[in-house]
Amino acid sequence: MKRVKIFVKGIVQGVGFRPFVYRLAKKYNAKGWVQNRGEGVEIDVELEDERAFLSSLKKNSPPLCKIEDVSIEVLPPENFKDFKILESEEGYKKTFVSPDISICDNCLKELFDENNRRFLYPLINCTDCGPRYTIIKTLPYDRKNTSMSKFQMCKICEEEYFNPLDRRYHAQPISCFNCGPKTFLEYENKRVEESKEIFKQAAFLIKRGKILAIKGLGGFHLICDATNLKAVKKLRERKKRPLKPFAVMFKDISQIKEVCSLSKEEEALISSKERPIVLVKKRKFHRLERRRFKISSLVALNVDYLGVFLPYTPIHYLLFSHLDIPIVATSANLSQEPIIRSKEELERKLGGVYDAILGNEREILNACDDSVAQIVDGKKVFIRLSRGYAPFSVNLPFRIKRKVLAVGAMQKDTISLAFDRNFILSPHIGDLDSIDAFEYFKRTVETFKRFYDFNPEVVVFDKHPKYDTSKWAKELEIKKISVYHHLSHIYCALFEAEVLEKMEIKDYLGFSWDGTGYGEDKNIWGGEIFLNDNRVSHFRYFKLLGGEMAVREPRRVAISLLFEVFGKDALSLPLESVKAFNDSQKSILYKSWERDIGSFYTSSVGRIFDAVASLTGVVQILDYEGQSGLYMEKYYDEEIKDLYSFNVKDSIDFFPMIEEIVKDVLRKRSKREIVSKFINTLSEIILHFAKENKESICIFSGGVFQNRVLLLSTVKKLEKENLRYFFPSRIPINDGGISAGQLWYAIKKNFV
Ligand code: ZN
Ligand code: ZN
Ligand code: FE
Repeated sequence: MKRVKIFVKGIVQGVGFRPFVYRLAKKYNAKGWVQNRGEGVEIDVELEDERAFLSSLKKNSPPLCKIEDVSIEVLPPENFKDFKILESEEGYKKTFVSPDISICDNCLKELFDENNRRFLYPLINCTDCGPRYTIIKTLPYDRKNTSMSKFQMCKICEEEYFNPLDRRYHAQPISCFNCGPKTFLEYENKRVEESKEIFKQAAFLIKRGKILAIKGLGGFHLICDATNLKAVKKLRERKKRPLKPFAVMFKDISQIKEVCSLSKEEEALISSKERPIVLVKKRKFHRLERRRFKISSLVALNVDYLGVFLPYTPIHYLLFSHLDIPIVATSANLSQEPIIRSKEELERKLGGVYDAILGNEREILNACDDSVAQIVDGKKVFIRLSRGYAPFSVNLPFRIKRKVLAVGAMQKDTISLAFDRNFILSPHIGDLDSIDAFEYFKRTVETFKRFYDFNPEVVVFDKHPKYDTSKWAKELEIKKISVYHHLSHIYCALFEAEVLEKMEIKDYLGFSWDGTGYGEDKNIWGGEIFLNDNRVSHFRYFKLLGGEMAVREPRRVAISLLFEVFGKDALSLPLESVKAFNDSQKSILYKSWERDIGSFYTSSVGRIFDAVASLTGVVQILDYEGQSGLYMEKYYDEEIKDLYSFNVKDSIDFFPMIEEIVKDVLRKRSKREIVSKFINTLSEIILHFAKENKESICIFSGGVFQNRVLLLSTVKKLEKENLRYFFPSRIPINDGGISAGQLWYAIKKNFV
């Protein structure tokens, strides 16, 4: 007999870890105890074979567990008589909050098992699955601290809850038909509760072209038949969202394969327990091919990709048990606002948008949107890190002295916090342009302060003086650190490389390319190259007419660049970008350009994408952010290897490329040719710098790298030359990663 004390850190509380240890102890005939402690779980056992016990502990832990660290101490024997789960240590708040997870296989089996007492129960869950973050008021994670506190467990549920051998031992959201929250369908002033009929009725309404508001884990979705053009059109009109692609939920993976071509990495990601929305390539159809169904063209117009996902709550599965068609499932919100989580808010804000509500009485305390990802070069790239992944928690490699909060930027915002050895990244909050969105930002800060008894001693924010997050941070009476936007992008990648991948990075060459960020010289940056924190180059500045207005109008970016390259002659060029303005607009534009009115200087690669999209006639006015890049992707042809010209001196002069693009447009070259040459030029610029700094690892970060054809073309060129590179794959590559970058910058620079 040997006695060992084991300490396990990570996501190990509220995920069925102690009962797992209990079962393991039974199996290996171990005596002693297990207990939740401040920073993890402590196990004190006497047993014969501690090696087998430990390896099984690490290898077979429950699905939601994330073991960060295991330490062992050998102690003198104690002669324990049995194995016990001890009460949790009081006042512990340091453990991580787990994200919400899709329904597990065991629950799914029970859901459709006539003999199970939870047969067709819409809120079935267990310690391996179901809601977490979205129902937690505060820690420790106990039922009384969740939105389930108002539902008294029935006798049978209680028995399961207190039985360490049951899958629902300490499953806080445990419930059943007898004791749980009610599910209901409201349609035409009628309310039907809990009857098994409601899912059949809801499916029937969808088939008839109705729009439903359906409550998921972190908020409501607006749902309609994805194969019904009229229904999708109605949803677009009512939601006032003319073009931005909708995500589509499919019954199963085979249904997705009927309309999209999937790589094995994509299939694995779509089917993973986190169930993100994955952007995948639409399949080409033969004209005569017979198809079971056809996704309406209005779902994702003019783009090659479709955002697809699988059902992830029992509610979705129950709905699909009556439905054979894929459904549009888009977050219920007003544009630019956070996802709606209560029926009251839904009625107030989206009253005229949906025809029926399929809801339930389990209150969502913390909203959480669907995550969005894509696979590039076999690796994940996150566009939005939220349900299933966030709160994203990890142990830092060392302890930090002070409690730090990083507030992100303004678009796709997230917050990050760190204390002791803990790092936590919040779920996606969103664009903070509206009052409601900013309220949601403040609420999220409060939520995390409450979770972890966290009172920041240092706040980190973006250098942009006009960002609301920066203004808010400056009001706090604690130590303040501001970081340049593009350095934050780089540090986000460094955080992932150094902390998550445990890489040792000596020298890096960082490409920080996006739409907008405030630079050191007060210009708007967006095409920056850093060598170990020093900005060594950037795209040549150009005067952007209309300032912020130009962000929505590629034609304004194009005309600004045409003035730079051709002067006044630009106005007589027979280009769509010029024709998009009438004569009086043109003369005002030129005068403003000459006199520097209402413009600023920028090096933004995001804007250069816009300009090229306009020059080639792909799009002149945007309906949503990132549209021009997305539209252009479909014209990229990897067989075309040609490039445009550029010069590298103090900055990257891309004006020769603009001149050549104009020539190509006037010569009526195809979009395919021009777009491909444009993308190739960008990756060639990266290659140029990479070759000059062979010792450094190249880092790509910023929203521009969401463009998969650019990322892929770059990666291929670097691999051919045996050059090293890294891009964020677990933290969002866009502004969603800014707060993590800000925090890591503050830590690395010893500001905290
Ligand atoms: Zn389960
Ligand atoms: Zn019950
Ligand atoms: Fe950015």
